[in-house]
Amino acid sequence: MDKLAFKQGFYSGSGIITKRVISHKGDIFLNLFLKGHGIIWVIAPGSAKGKVRFGGSLEPSTWGIFTLYKGATNFYLKAVEVKADSWALRHRPGALRTYFSILKLINSNLPQGHPDDEVLAHLFWTRDLLIRDCPREVVEWRFLWRWLKSWGLAPEVDICQSCGCGVSQGYISSEGFLCSSCLSGEGKNSIPPINLHVLKKAAMLSRGSFQEFCMELNDTQIAGFRGATIMLRDILCKQS
Ligand SMILES: [Zn+2]
Repeated sequence: MDKLAFKQGFYSGSGIITKRVISHKGDIFLNLFLKGHGIIWVIAPGSAKGKVRFGGSLEPSTWGIFTLYKGATNFYLKAVEVKADSWALRHRPGALRTYFSILKLINSNLPQGHPDDEVLAHLFWTRDLLIRDCPREVVEWRFLWRWLKSWGLAPEVDICQSCGCGVSQGYISSEGFLCSSCLSGEGKNSIPPINLHVLKKAAMLSRGSFQEFCMELNDTQIAGFRGATIMLRDILCKQS
């Protein structure tokens, strides 16, 4: 939906600030990812110079309830009720970096004005899992796989992308996982296969069981998540 398709008037929605830009005049421009609305580009005129009351609540990654006014062409921020920020991640620099890199992906890949409440919910719980000290590689894999799944783009984790046979150990390709018979070239001898059973579990497990599952992962398994996550990022970026 184009922003011109929204009627003039007030809108309200819960969601997150995914991006903030401050102009030289002190106006703040925000990307908000809101329930029921998707990504909306919003202006808070003069906010950076303190003319308006929002203060520090306009940090990227702030979750809250946002009240907007849609004028003839633009959305203006009227009020913010902050529900959560990323303060709990401040002492976890790796987790914070992962979270912000996910927000960057959201800004680049979600179209403006298209609601995507499923991805928004996954994003919210991603923050929660990072705060609980779950390994960031595993949390990012889970988030991206679930995002791609909701768009019908997630690769099968336990089926070879090329021949369709079931696999428990596999190799990364540009579009999914391969069995050892379908892996061509020299890579077969130099790259260790990834335990796909573990990847599948990380994507599918309920939140309640996820933290306990993470505690049992070893370094080799976590390295597998790192490679698989790069593949998912590539799949996502190819679509947009
Ligand atoms: Zn195969």
